[in-house]
Amino acid sequence: MSENDMPEWTPISGLQIAVDGPSGSGKGTIASLVAEAVGLPVLDTGLLYRFIGYSAMQNNIETDNEAAILAMLDGCLQTMQWQPGGIVVDGENINDRLRKEDVAAAASRVAAMPEVRKKLLHVQRDIAEHGCVMDGRDIGTVVLPDAQAKFFLTASLHERARRRWAQLQRMGAEVSLDATLYEIRERDTQDAERAHSPLKQARDAVCIDSTTLRIDEVVDRMLAIMERRQLIRQS
Ligand code: C5P
Repeated sequence: MSENDMPEWTPISGLQIAVDGPSGSGKGTIASLVAEAVGLPVLDTGLLYRFIGYSAMQNNIETDNEAAILAMLDGCLQTMQWQPGGIVVDGENINDRLRKEDVAAAASRVAAMPEVRKKLLHVQRDIAEHGCVMDGRDIGTVVLPDAQAKFFLTASLHERARRRWAQLQRMGAEVSLDATLYEIRERDTQDAERAHSPLKQARDAVCIDSTTLRIDEVVDRMLAIMERRQLIRQS
């Protein structure tokens, strides 16, 4: 941001930017930085699925018990609010709790349930209505198929595992790189092979492989593409 706190770029009215990719592709960090540069809110949609998985765990519901998850769904969504900083329950931002690895695994399982996806589709579209940057797995393909800008971020499995492991270390988790790699590979398979809204690059998305790129290089590339397409202009 510039000195007077104005975003560096001005987006066209209602600009929707979809950022999809597998775990550890850097999409969360990158989506936040792009959102800051263009002055739009950002929604990490993974947090919504994590919240459902977390609520199931809190209520001792097995994440393969679809009937019990669906019975819990409306009530649990009513207890949360989405705010620009993340998920808030009873006035408390619970993002850190949602970012734990056991919650990620639960999220991936509930995310395979069509009814869960249907419910969250409306939540996500409402949030995106006036423009936003949204990151997830199916944003460009299902949630915002008409988004004016779509990106698909990826990186090698090893690099993604290394990044996620470093992030978990910073959060104080004691987990090995091998275990993180295994967990990411499991989630890749589960997310890419599920019947409903699998992780897939939209046909009109620009793919960026960030294995050897720095975060700021990826962000600059995305901003340059959007400037060329006249979706954003320098403020
Ligand atoms: O992005 P994150 O790792 O937080 O997402 C957690 C899980 O939520 C993913 O593994 C995926 O199964 C699910 N998810 C999804 N669709 C999205 C975002 C996340 O299915 N748009």
